[in-house]
Amino acid sequence: MTNPFDEFRGSPIDWSDMLNLSKVMEILRHTPDPEQSRSLIRTSTIDPNDLLIVATRMIELKRRDHGRIAMEEAIRQLDADPDRIAPDIDIVFAKRNLCFLLEHTRDSLSQFDLVKKEPKIVQADPQLALAIAEGLINQQRFEEAAFVIARIDEIPFAVLSEKLAKINGWVDGTNAMRVEAYKHVRWNSLPGWWDDVGPGDVRRIVPAVEQNLQRRVGMGHDDTLLLIRQLAVTGDRRAIPVLTQALRHHKSSVVVDAASALHALGDAAGVEALISGFRSAPEGDKWRFASALQDIRDSRAVAVVADYNAAQRAAEELKQRRINEGLCVTCGKALGFMDKMSSRQAHKQCS
Ligand SMILES: [Zn+2]
Repeated sequence: MTNPFDEFRGSPIDWSDMLNLSKVMEILRHTPDPEQSRSLIRTSTIDPNDLLIVATRMIELKRRDHGRIAMEEAIRQLDADPDRIAPDIDIVFAKRNLCFLLEHTRDSLSQFDLVKKEPKIVQADPQLALAIAEGLINQQRFEEAAFVIARIDEIPFAVLSEKLAKINGWVDGTNAMRVEAYKHVRWNSLPGWWDDVGPGDVRRIVPAVEQNLQRRVGMGHDDTLLLIRQLAVTGDRRAIPVLTQALRHHKSSVVVDAASALHALGDAAGVEALISGFRSAPEGDKWRFASALQDIRDSRAVAVVADYNAAQRAAEELKQRRINEGLCVTCGKALGFMDKMSSRQAHKQCS
């Protein structure tokens, strides 16, 4: 028996020849189980570019599963040998179509596998990407959801706005998903204040922070910190410029919270600012940066925190040894009789 996939006329297939369309229908009729068509495809010599178009015809004939299998096989063959991709075939778009076909199965993990292999699907169709991210979050697959959202985050806000303009509330919806996914994957533990603040409207908060950052030196910044924390839990990336600006603030508490907020929004500058802040901070301020870095799940942060903790431990051991040996905890020299009599641990001039 000849393989019906080998019997299409022309390559590219000539669809004005009605015989080709009836060949598609014949395949559908003779393979009630879509998987049967997969084995036929695998033993045929059909050009995968042609197979992609056959898949489209099957989908137009409402045979989604047949279409999906033909598409999977075509993409598999083209991926294995990209030189075969015809100039008129947009392989990213083909993969996006396959991903879209899986939408009705609610099989978000299979969709994710496609996105992971071809992240450009996200740029090609951010709306589909958001639907996939939502499906993944519903299944508590936060790592996978965060991967998809990080790709969405690479698209400029203006471009996203244009592509998603028809979706009501896409900004808030995307923000909520970003917060949920990143919350689970970007932290060892959430900052202590995380649950004390709720999301707000960035269009109001951002100008308020901008104004606060202009304040004279010496004034308090409790309200600024609250606003910055609110930006973190809101998850709106339009806050990134003002948070970046806050990294240059003279108060380390403002810098630390702004950096943590940037990290919450998926911006790499957050960890970088905490590390460089840690390095340049005066000794008494380092703990602030170290404890923020400790909350963050990031290999660079882990290294800095480990160094800091080792240094702290060494200092503590040195202090204990000096106390045990009756030496001044500060300078390490012997304490005088009067110091010991008044139970000092350091010389008067050293404490
Ligand atoms: Zn001393």
